[in-house]
Amino acid sequence: MKQHIFLASPHMSEEGYEKQYIKEAFDTNWIAPLGKNVTEFENEMVRKLGAGRAVALSAGTAAIHMALKAVGVGQGDIVFCQSLTFSASANPIVYERAVPVFIDSETETWNMSPQALELAFDKYAKMGRRPKAVIVVHLYGISAKIAEIKEICGRYQVPLIEDAAESLGTVYQGRYTGTFGDYGIISFNGNKIITSSGGGMLLVNTEDAQEKAQKVLYWATQAREPAPWYQHTEIGYNYRMSNIVAGIGRGQLKVLDRRVEKKRYILEYYRKHLGDLPGISFMPMPQEAYCNCWLSVLQLAENCPVKPKDIMRALAEDDVESRPVWKPMHLQPIFAGCDFVSQVQDLCILEEESGADSSVSGQIFARGICMPSDSKMTDEDLQRICDVVRELWK
Ligand SMILES: *Cc1c(COP(=O)(O)O)cnc(C)c1O
Repeated sequence: MKQHIFLASPHMSEEGYEKQYIKEAFDTNWIAPLGKNVTEFENEMVRKLGAGRAVALSAGTAAIHMALKAVGVGQGDIVFCQSLTFSASANPIVYERAVPVFIDSETETWNMSPQALELAFDKYAKMGRRPKAVIVVHLYGISAKIAEIKEICGRYQVPLIEDAAESLGTVYQGRYTGTFGDYGIISFNGNKIITSSGGGMLLVNTEDAQEKAQKVLYWATQAREPAPWYQHTEIGYNYRMSNIVAGIGRGQLKVLDRRVEKKRYILEYYRKHLGDLPGISFMPMPQEAYCNCWLSVLQLAENCPVKPKDIMRALAEDDVESRPVWKPMHLQPIFAGCDFVSQVQDLCILEEESGADSSVSGQIFARGICMPSDSKMTDEDLQRICDVVRELWK
């Protein structure tokens, strides 16, 4: 029987580092709360990435929430957020009763279009409004044009939050993603390039990083005031990472570079073995960036007779997992009332069923497919997948 192939699944270190860190935690009874693994995981991440400060949290989503609070987002504020992303990038905006305004992507990086971002700033300036924050995403590990976006935000004096949940290990112009924005966020969810079994981290890169990180720690641990009794002046959250989880994370961080190499190899493999098929292209690889290639994403030309759903069905019949590209937030029923700013004029619906429209993000959604990108795959697995896909072109 053929083995099931996952889209992306946990891949512990070959050396068993994770177990060593967990064992240490057991041996010293530092099961919870906090403990050495948490502090060391933060320190190791700061050193690895060159970030200001790091706060280990229970999820990447929690990290986005804390970043929004740290920049002071509150009721009625607007936040510019990349539309093509996972809903976790945008949901925390609503937790704080603020209003997301979604920004379209560009074809060169699939991420936030600097042009659309300028249009949005312009549009809202005319109404006498300025967003409280901008959230940019490095989708699938492809770097956004982060320097350009940072420059625009700087010009308008609006803090930048970098959702690097999918791009840990991606380098842009010699620097790791997650360290460009005032705040960067990382996820260690089970399907990400490294996993702690679930968790996240907030990177604080502001000049007052120490102070901001302290504030986040306070909110993330139930907002307890320094008093002899339980005293609260603010609403708190239970968002801190546990010492066991951090032990897994520490072990995984040791093999991050190895995982990046394998993910890049997987994309190269698909390129080599499927690239000749008419109508197939691959996710962009911006020149200034060294991408972690978390997921390998194919794109099918508009006139290609094979559709993403055909590939997904054929793979599923062979017990191989694949996924559609994220459905943009501006097309999600839950965000139907939100504004969307695109550089594309006269938007129209292209696909009734999925709701895909003619925006750049809408087209990436309609024509893209996330291929199996599990770092445990062998060449035989990759060959098996490519054979299934090639069959559709016969
Ligand atoms: C996974 C992910 C998140 C959320 O991270 P969790 O750790 O699952 O909460 C946020 N943004 C993007 C783009 C993601 O892919």
